[in-house]
Formats: sequence, structure tokens, C-alpha cells
Amino acid sequence: MSLEERVAQVKANIAAAAREVGRDPSEITLVAATKVQSSDTIRQAIAAGITVCGENRVQEMTAHLDDDAYAGAALHFIGHLQTNKVKQVVGRVDLIESVGSEHLLDAIEAQAAKLDLVQDILLEINIGAEASKSGISPAELPALARKAAACPHVRLRGLMAIPPVAEGPDGNRPFFAKMRQLFVDISREMSDNGIIIDCLSMGMSGDYQDAVREGATLVRVGTALFGPRPPIHKV
Ligand SMILES: *Cc1c(COP(=O)(O)O)cnc(C)c1O
Repeated sequence: MSLEERVAQVKANIAAAAREVGRDPSEITLVAATKVQSSDTIRQAIAAGITVCGENRVQEMTAHLDDDAYAGAALHFIGHLQTNKVKQVVGRVDLIESVGSEHLLDAIEAQAAKLDLVQDILLEINIGAEASKSGISPAELPALARKAAACPHVRLRGLMAIPPVAEGPDGNRPFFAKMRQLFVDISREMSDNGIIIDCLSMGMSGDYQDAVREGATLVRVGTALFGPRPPIHKV
């Protein structure tokens, strides 16, 4: 299958999963996880109908930006972001999906203030409570969401999660369902403050249809679009 056909197929799968649960497919955006892909491949994906690229390595993203590889698409940062690299990301991406600590939120607010702009962000939830993963616990969410809402140079748009590798027969659905509940609760609380929470980012190549069934508005898909990633990366 060509990249064009895979993009069409993933979009069709998203639409089918949405309709199954009575959702409008236009509520869901496919984010192409472009790590390790070349600038040319990224351009091809955009030509094939990708409207949002997600990058998770600052160095690769910077090289692609220098190449103007993302022209015609929005750009999200989806990977682990170290505070010392915030300068290379704030103001250069449309959405930072992976804000998983108060420390990082503070650094983003400070850099956005310096640049005099407002940076859209999602808070990353460590929904499987895994020691190896970044993100806040569900219990920490209300306080950090309130803090983000009070940051003048940050706009909180929603939540993101990378659940554990699926084991049970339902795969990751229980984690996705938990995320949906957190999303509903935080949306309600924030709407009292006039803040619109409209992004729930969850689901990857192996489970994006289930994520859509459970309410995802953004799915981040790499392998199903580009094939298996090579072990060594070249920009
Ligand atoms: C790579 C990556 C994805 C996509 O993973 P696939 O399994 O290849 O679809 C999604 N989210 C994040 C944060 C990633 O780093």
C-alpha cells in the first residue's frame, strides 16, 4: 500500500469507529507521528491529506522546521520535553501535548511570556501509573489544570495519555474510558471559568479505533501510516 492509501485507510477506520458510537467523524483529527521520517516523507504525508504532524524529538523537529517540511500542516509536540529544550519548542508548535509536570508548565509559561505569546498545551496523564512514563497522576490533575488556567501565556486545551502496552482482551479501552471521565470532569470544571477544553489525545497505531470509541479527539498514529520504524534514525 502507498502512503496515500494508508492515510485514506486510517481515516476510514477512524470514521467507522466514530460512527459505531454515534460520533461525527469530523470531531477527530489524525495526527501523524512523524518521528524518524525524512522531510520528504513528511511532505508526502501532507500531500496525502495529513493535516497535523506530531514530533517527539526536539532535534529532529528543528531540522524539519529548517527544511520547511511541515508546510501546509499544523505541528504538535508529543514527546517528552526537557525544560532545557523549551526554548526550541514554545512558539514553534501549535500545541504541546505532553506537559506532564508543574516544572515544565512553569518553564513553558516563562518562555511564552518572554516571547509575548500564548502557547496551547495539553496536560499529560500517566493513566497506567507507570514508573517509566512521564505525566501527572489523575489525583494531581485538578490542581495543575487550575494552575495552567491561571497562566496568562498558556492556554489549556485538554488532556493526553500514553497508556501501558495492552494486555487484557479489552486492550486499552479501560484506560481510554478513565481518560474520558477525567476529560469530562475537567471540561466541566474549566467551563465554569470560561475555559474550553476540547482536546483528548489518545490512541496509537494498535488501538486508535478503541480510543475513538472512547472519545478521543486526537489520535497519534505512526506505524500504521509509515510502516515499522527503522532502528537507526536519520533526518
Ligand atoms: C511514536 C508515537 C506515537 C505513534 O506510535 P505508533 O505505535 O507508531 O502509531 C504516538 N504517540 C507518541 C507520543 C509517540 O511517540
